[in-house]
Amino acid sequence: DEMDVDTIWMDGEFVDWDDAQIHVLTHGLHYGTGIFEGARCYDTEEGPAIFRWDAHLERLYQSAKPYEMEIGYDAEELTEATLELVQSQELASCYIRPVAFYGYDSLGVSPGDCPTRIAIAAWPWGTYLGEDALENGIDVMVSSWRKHASSQVPTNAKTTGLYVNSMLAGEEARRNGYAEAIVLNKEGDVAEGPGENIFLVRDDEIYTPGLSESILEGITRNTVIELAEDLGYTVHDTASISRGELNTADELFFTGSAAEVTPIRKVDNVVIGDGSRGPVTEEIQSRFFEVVERRTDEYDEWFTYV
Ligand code: PMP
Repeated sequence: DEMDVDTIWMDGEFVDWDDAQIHVLTHGLHYGTGIFEGARCYDTEEGPAIFRWDAHLERLYQSAKPYEMEIGYDAEELTEATLELVQSQELASCYIRPVAFYGYDSLGVSPGDCPTRIAIAAWPWGTYLGEDALENGIDVMVSSWRKHASSQVPTNAKTTGLYVNSMLAGEEARRNGYAEAIVLNKEGDVAEGPGENIFLVRDDEIYTPGLSESILEGITRNTVIELAEDLGYTVHDTASISRGELNTADELFFTGSAAEVTPIRKVDNVVIGDGSRGPVTEEIQSRFFEVVERRTDEYDEWFTYV
């Protein structure tokens, strides 16, 4: 098939890609009652290695909690399945997508006796926003859609249903000629991108919206905070960033497992800094790739080798 992979792990078994099917009356399809993860396996000097796999699994189990969803496999079993999946398909670098959801039984909003289903897929996936994006940055627009408030849904759980908001914001941006959106929270302050956290640099200090701003606690966000602090930067990770502060930033960048570290060069019509990847962004980005490609032996505890 087009992705050049042929196997998916589903409910404890490896099945052919084309056989990884579900019933059309699946609860998760109708009500968005699924939770998921997105991790990257990098082709490193030490062989394929999954970056911060343990943190992704931990967040998967945490995301399940508000939905009272019992994932019937422990972290060891999911790790074993994932390693076998990546090995058997001879993937060097890939994106890994675990997803768990309420399956088919009844279609009341209450999941009742719907079984929890779970699958893990892995496939080769290049840069999320393009090679050029990593080097030159992207143009983004502030979305007219607001992020759900954390009083409406647990925004710190990576829930499938929440991504209708991400899709609306992202597609609105692309329709208007931008690569991606910035989404404000209900109060009108900066929350995050549709699938990215956001960082701001001003006077050589680094700011990122705090967990109470209706954001997902990104694993790349936590990684970048640690790397930046280790590089000697002061990082304010409980910031509240107003819309206007985007315009006056020296630098802005997105982080995410898919987006990695992507500079932002323009917000709406406003050029950020000098309109290219700024020096702080560049330093953090190059440190990030040095680490994930294992060109340094520091941070070895972040890797699960395939
Ligand atoms: N925010 C949202 C809404 C996301 O979907 C993602 C991607 N998982 C992120 C932030 C970044 O999180 P991470 O660094 O863990 O990929």
